[in-house]
Amino acid sequence: MIEKIFDLKLYIPKYCYLTIYEIPFLKLYQEGKRSVFIDIDNTMISYDLAKPTKAVKDLFSHLKEMGYEIIILSNNRRKRVKLVADELGVSYFYKTRKPLKGGFKKALKLTKYSKEEIITVGDQIMTDILGSNRVGLDAILVRCLKRSSEKWYTKLNRRREKNILKGLEKNYPLEYQKIIEVRGKD
Ligand SMILES: [Mg+2]
Repeated sequence: MIEKIFDLKLYIPKYCYLTIYEIPFLKLYQEGKRSVFIDIDNTMISYDLAKPTKAVKDLFSHLKEMGYEIIILSNNRRKRVKLVADELGVSYFYKTRKPLKGGFKKALKLTKYSKEEIITVGDQIMTDILGSNRVGLDAILVRCLKRSSEKWYTKLNRRREKNILKGLEKNYPLEYQKIIEVRGKD
C-alpha cells in the first residue's frame, strides 16, 4: 500500500504544549505511557547551547524517578547528540532523518515498550510530528525554543509547514487552533 504522505492527519500532534515543562508526564504515566522519544534541538535546548540546562536535567531526573525510559531521537550529528545524551544519561539515535521512519524504528527495537506506551516530543511538524505519526506513535508538539538559531533546512521546513497549516486550518480547524496556540502563526 502506498502511504498517503499528503494525508493532513499525519501532521496533527496528539497534544500541544508550550514547553516540555508543561507536559503532564505524571498524568501520561497514569494513562499508561512508559517511554519518551524526545528531540533535542529547540525542543529541549536551543541550537546554540552545547549542554542541557539544569532545568532539563531536573526534568529528566524527575521523569526517570517516575519510571520513564527516555530515548533521544535527533537529526543532528553524533557529536552534538552524544554530548547531550551522555549528560542526561539516556540512550540516543543521531542523524535520524526524521520524518523518515528509520530512527523511530531503531528506537522501537531498543525499547521494551509497545507503541501505545510511547509518547514522542518535538518542535517540528514536518519532522518530529510527521515522523512519529507515520510509525503510529502519539506525538506532542512543543513551541520551538529559539527560532533565530534555526538552521537553513529547518527554515525551509517551516515554509513547507505553512502550506500544511493552511490545509489544516481549512479541514481541521480545531486541531489547527491548538497547533497555532503553541507554534505561533508566522
Ligand atoms: Mg527540533
